[in-house]
Amino acid sequence: MAEDGSLLVVAIDGPAGSGKSTVARRLADALGLQYLDTGAMYRAVTFAVLARGVEPDAEEAVAELAEALKIELGADGAVLVDGVDATTEIRSPEVSRCVSEVANNQRVRRELVSRQREWTRQRGGGVLEGRDIGSVVYPDADLKVYLTASPEVRARRRALETSDVSEESVARDLARRDAYDSQRVNDPLRQADGAVTVDTSDLTIDQVVNRLVELLRVADPGGGPTD
Ligand code: C5P
Repeated sequence: MAEDGSLLVVAIDGPAGSGKSTVARRLADALGLQYLDTGAMYRAVTFAVLARGVEPDAEEAVAELAEALKIELGADGAVLVDGVDATTEIRSPEVSRCVSEVANNQRVRRELVSRQREWTRQRGGGVLEGRDIGSVVYPDADLKVYLTASPEVRARRRALETSDVSEESVARDLARRDAYDSQRVNDPLRQADGAVTVDTSDLTIDQVVNRLVELLRVADPGGGPTD
């Protein structure tokens, strides 16, 4: 069990398009837990930064905005930013272009990590997905997973989700964000110590979810699903 023994936490990290969101949501259902898309939180801050005309590299202004920002994440994937529905806008190419820079802001990270831990405490655990869950947010999670897939498969998946953008332009955005996210100074994307790597390129969602349920049973025999 993670932390003080009362939380059941699954940490799923990996690059964009590796299947994290779909797998995390399905795994949470299978385990009777709730699911947290931490990338949506960094996107919500970025959306507010752009909407208010703040420069993404203006460290102090961005941090102050993040610390005061109300972010509500619905179980259905809806995202409210200071009460305004920004579910679609947080996935725009503009937000995708600027989010990595905002996510490299140390104070923004500190604020959002603290909210992620509070979210988890309030629910007695959860399935959290992002870039630094197994390395920073919950290094002692019950199960730590690093999901990956080939660059081609990842670009194809993301292009299918965002129908108005070509696969080439999605591939360029992913490559740029991968490079930035894994080379940045603050909490870069990396495989956490003790994380199990699963390459999802040739696996169905069911196969990945079943594999993770099995891994959790082995890692934490008392904490798995109660079916
Ligand atoms: O998961 P998604 O691709 O929507 O995340 C958007 C961006 O948010 C990532 O490219 C990364 O820069 C940032 N992020 C992060 N730490 C997390 C989750 C996302 O830095 N835990």
